[in-house]
Amino acid sequence: AVPMSIMVGTGRAAERGVLFRQGSALQALGSVKVIAFDKTGTLTEGGPRLTDLVTAEGFSRDDVLAAAGEVEGRSEHPIARAIVDAARESGTIPAVQAFESVAGYGVKGRVGGRSVAVGAKRWMDRLGIATSDLDAEAQRLGRSGRSPLYAAIDGRLAALIAVADPVRADAATVVRSLKASGLTVAMITGDDQRTARAVADTLGIDAVAAEVLPDGKVKALKDLRRAHGAIAFVGDGINDAPALAEAEVGIAIGSGTDVAIESADVVLMSGALRGVEEAIALSRATMANIR
Ligand code: ADP
Ligand code: MG
Repeated sequence: AVPMSIMVGTGRAAERGVLFRQGSALQALGSVKVIAFDKTGTLTEGGPRLTDLVTAEGFSRDDVLAAAGEVEGRSEHPIARAIVDAARESGTIPAVQAFESVAGYGVKGRVGGRSVAVGAKRWMDRLGIATSDLDAEAQRLGRSGRSPLYAAIDGRLAALIAVADPVRADAATVVRSLKASGLTVAMITGDDQRTARAVADTLGIDAVAAEVLPDGKVKALKDLRRAHGAIAFVGDGINDAPALAEAEVGIAIGSGTDVAIESADVVLMSGALRGVEEAIALSRATMANIR
């Protein structure tokens, strides 16, 4: 009776665009205690736009934007696209040399004979660039849910750039109903503490792990497991692959990266977050049938 019910359950899920790659995931999902979401591209749309650019003394908006746009042109990060799009309106500049990208920190390179770096505060710290002139501004923008980034030119702080990524239309509803069904809902992100908190508050998420480096997502997940029990992790990015594999059930957004999809037990083909709710309901119903 067990395999039959599982087959019916996975078939029904597939009709709703929820692909169970393993029958065992249908069994496991019904008994998880925590649903942990990646933020960028999972709870948010993943298409951030530049919202603010505050220059440090001695730098102009156009200059910083053109220089930052050049180095970001070599990055695959969604943040990079936001800066490149905004920079496109400024003139062009010689190609980037000595490009370097450090996951969870930011990017740097040489543009027209100058060194240009863009990234999180920890990236500036690592490069030995003082940020104190714009830290208060970064905190203010973070509290409003925007992601603050620092830009430096030739070793000096040049500007604070903020990008904003709207939360998905169905995110708040899905979080509310998961909580109503007795689950702990958590968020794990590499983004700024304050930004993460602001987004979590908008969505009604209590447990937040922010400024988590790519190799720290698995540890954050283990901490949640220790505190609350078995976990389903929902993510879309390359950085999410280890957490998707570590979770009792890894759920990938169908529009996400190939690496994320390959690491997942369940794939939401429609890309809609509502699929998480549907997958859990089907799993619970199937297991109730078996018992
Ligand atoms: P997540 O996928 O959870 O948003 P990441 O680990 O990809 O987190 O990035 C964490 C942080 O590192 C970003 O919020 C940003 O501050 C910084 N960062 C990473 N890549 C870039 C980039 N290409 N340009 C600027 N900042 C970056
Ligand atoms: Mg993501």
